[in-house]
Amino acid sequence: MLLTITTTHQPATDLGFLLAKNPARCQSFPLSFGQAHVFYPVAHDRVCTAALLVDLDPIRLVRRRSRQSQDRTLGQYVNDRPYVASSFLSVALARVYKSALSGQSKERPALAAMAIPLEAQITAVQCRDGERMLRALFEPLGYNVSAECQPLDTAFPEWEASTYWSVTLRATHRLHDLLTHLYVLLPVLDDDKHYWVGKEELEKLLAKGEGWLATHPERDLIVARYLRYRRRLTREALARLVVEDDTDPDATEAAQAHEEAVLEDRISLSEQRMMAVLAVLRGAGATRVIDLGCGEGKFLQTLLTHTDCEQITGMDVSSRALALAKRRLRLDRLPARQRARITLFQGALTYRDQRLTGYDAACALEVIEHLEPSRLGAFERVLFEFARPPTVVITTPNTEYNVRFENLAAGRLRHGDHRFEWTREEFSRWVQRVADRSGYAFRLLPIGPVDPAIGAPTQMAVFTR
Ligand code: SAH
Repeated sequence: MLLTITTTHQPATDLGFLLAKNPARCQSFPLSFGQAHVFYPVAHDRVCTAALLVDLDPIRLVRRRSRQSQDRTLGQYVNDRPYVASSFLSVALARVYKSALSGQSKERPALAAMAIPLEAQITAVQCRDGERMLRALFEPLGYNVSAECQPLDTAFPEWEASTYWSVTLRATHRLHDLLTHLYVLLPVLDDDKHYWVGKEELEKLLAKGEGWLATHPERDLIVARYLRYRRRLTREALARLVVEDDTDPDATEAAQAHEEAVLEDRISLSEQRMMAVLAVLRGAGATRVIDLGCGEGKFLQTLLTHTDCEQITGMDVSSRALALAKRRLRLDRLPARQRARITLFQGALTYRDQRLTGYDAACALEVIEHLEPSRLGAFERVLFEFARPPTVVITTPNTEYNVRFENLAAGRLRHGDHRFEWTREEFSRWVQRVADRSGYAFRLLPIGPVDPAIGAPTQMAVFTR
């Protein structure tokens, strides 16, 4: 069984810190059913790949099992278990990447909390239901899924297709998210052989599924398969997941919005953008956040629903946008405790304003490209010299990616009100200059699927001081 995880987040070798495995070494770990090895086929500043190879020993498995079972058929010895990703791989993940799976990193805690471009390749999964099931499981979680059916035998291409697939999953996620998704979903794909099912598994499922399983459109199937159709456990798990839903009406709404995105067959770019910014704000531990150019309040709603932030403020120059935000957030009907967390006000980002001060973090999602280039300097001073929050997150389109949008004529901007759109080089130069001048450190991150030649559709800068 082979699972590789690749990142292009620079310096890419920081993946070694996240996984707590030194890229310069090959390490082995004994498991009850074989041996796991971790090594890095690629490890340099721009790309780093960690490989987890699980060398499963079928003989050892048979010996262990035959104490209970009388089944001594050849199939016990000769089978696909050493090759196909299954619950054994999940066990290996939990053992070998323990701290990363729980979202911790001693050396790079901020990076562990940050969404970074990740690619996971699994050499073989068995999927009797075909590619459709792979997509149904991973796409709602924001993955770009590519899968290739493996031939039964390369010498006999005329044989019917096998049920084995090589899978590549790409997303901008926290490493912790990728690992928990794999931990739960690999045994779900491997419907047949998930062998460790008891009450303890139910607790693991609920813990690892926190934050995503309750709203997954295939939730019932995932739970039933993970718990291997144990009816009582399945019922209990579903009941507990549904109770989580019911206690929070906002979560139900989020689930509906989520389903809508799934209907569209993929998580929209705007959703990925919000998730990426959310991950940064969480990583920074921000509890007072201001969303500059909040528009109709989509991100404010995400903050309200998915964080414990005590102060969430939206500002925009447009009174129409603010009215829509008010409606979306149902400000008039929010319970007092929730209502107290949120403030909206009208203002312009190019004028000093006392109301912009006192926040842990400020974000501006897809706003700077709406400013006149001649006013950009004023915006920089207002935000980085005057308001100076410890964390600033800015996203903007990467114009190089526009060639990918079929409906966009060459040379056109993505939106009628955009005053400019920058290449990665232009954005990076601007970010560097602002950071140097104002004494902030910065990171640049892609959002959305990364094309090696033209980058990702959205670019994000995270400034910290
Ligand atoms: N952040 C939102 C909206 C992006 S659209 C989202 O990601 O969905 C850009 C928003 O910036 C618009 O709502 C527009 O009214 C606002 N905006 C443009 N110029 C502004 C300025 N000078 N000051 C404050 N807001 C501005």
